[in-house]
Amino acid sequence: MSDTSRTYAEQLDREDVLASYKAEFYLKEGTIYMDGNSLGLLSKRAEQSLLAALDSWRTYGIDGWTEGEHPWFYYAEKLGALMAPLVGAGDGEVVVTGSTTTNLHQLVATFYHPEGKRTKILADELTFPSDIYALQSQIRLHGLDPQVHLIQVKSRDGRTLNEDDIIAAMSDEVALVLLPSVLYRSGQLLDIERLSAAARERNILIGFDLCHSIGAVSHELSRWGVDFAVWCNYKYLNAGPGSVAGLYVNRRHFGRTPALAGWFSSNKDVQFDMSHQLTPAEHAGAYQIGTPHILSAAPLMGSLSMFVEAGIDRLRAKSLRMTQYLMDLVESELSGMGFVIGNPMEHHRRGGHVCLIHEEAVRICKALKDNGVVPDFRAPDVIRLAPIPLYTSFQDIWDMVQRLKAIMTEKQYERYEKKRGVVA
Ligand SMILES: *Cc1c(COP(=O)(O)O)cnc(C)c1O
Repeated sequence: MSDTSRTYAEQLDREDVLASYKAEFYLKEGTIYMDGNSLGLLSKRAEQSLLAALDSWRTYGIDGWTEGEHPWFYYAEKLGALMAPLVGAGDGEVVVTGSTTTNLHQLVATFYHPEGKRTKILADELTFPSDIYALQSQIRLHGLDPQVHLIQVKSRDGRTLNEDDIIAAMSDEVALVLLPSVLYRSGQLLDIERLSAAARERNILIGFDLCHSIGAVSHELSRWGVDFAVWCNYKYLNAGPGSVAGLYVNRRHFGRTPALAGWFSSNKDVQFDMSHQLTPAEHAGAYQIGTPHILSAAPLMGSLSMFVEAGIDRLRAKSLRMTQYLMDLVESELSGMGFVIGNPMEHHRRGGHVCLIHEEAVRICKALKDNGVVPDFRAPDVIRLAPIPLYTSFQDIWDMVQRLKAIMTEKQYERYEKKRGVVA
């Protein structure tokens, strides 16, 4: 039996080695923020690094490209090097550029070469829509029909994917596989190592979308032999709305010419020769296109310093303790109220959020907001709750479950309209 007292939550907070980071974030008094898997909160360090970038502009003007503490000309590569430990990458394998979707276009355009029998892309039916739109358009750019050339592995239960089904679909017609690391609704963490090994055995290139695992889960992309990966930095990494994204390219692919080239794809030593013959950078930096978005990348610099300090393994350990604690409370406090836990229960199959399924999810989310809890709703019936290791306490989780319990026992949700907002 799990201990459901508030005293126990207080004890867990006292034992938490990461508890001090909470004070570094801008949290709204009285509000429990459980939506860090959609948009992470602002920290003082992220604010500082953004102000520092503005200060460089104020102080140096054009010379900010080469002067100051973090010259802008090397900013994307410097951030990439800082991020490398979060994904298990070696030197030069990560760069901070573009957005998830544009990076996906860049890397699929570069690595997808339909040839002979191998013309198909393998994905899944549960992934985020933007990824599917990008794959469909890349297939169309080759003059092919996505109905035929995009295979989407089916889910057996509508929530999770089975690795055996994915591997069974890796036929000799498949040129490239793209999968999410963590499914955005159910929070299932796929076995990236196993899937990558299976793809390599079959001479298929494999890429992952790490949007829902970066900063929440540790990765060993190079050791696992992943070919490429993309992710955003505004979810668990707290770098701000629309912040510049990241990409990974395994070093065995270094030296290729990017499919979508621009002058920032260049080897930096010769970029300002202004030659019309591109000499691409011999690392992941080659997949940049144009001038880096310094002001949208700058908050990541400060935010990342916390991840470097805290270490992804300690963050993951706390995240697992928190999601486990939340599930324990759901089972003991909310039983018989119609909730189903939709994420896998095993540690190694779960990302950073808990997926609660309820037929009244829309209205419950509205009631939670009015009770000072920021949840996240995904149509038609999913409530995502993400306790964030850097700024959520065990008492927050306890308080949130109590508020949710009151909403259910008092049927508060019945006061709301059963209709989702435009952004939900
Ligand atoms: C959040 C998310 C995106 C968003 O892509 P953007 O280009 O940043 O808008 C894409 N894919 C997945 C899996 C996501 O979770």
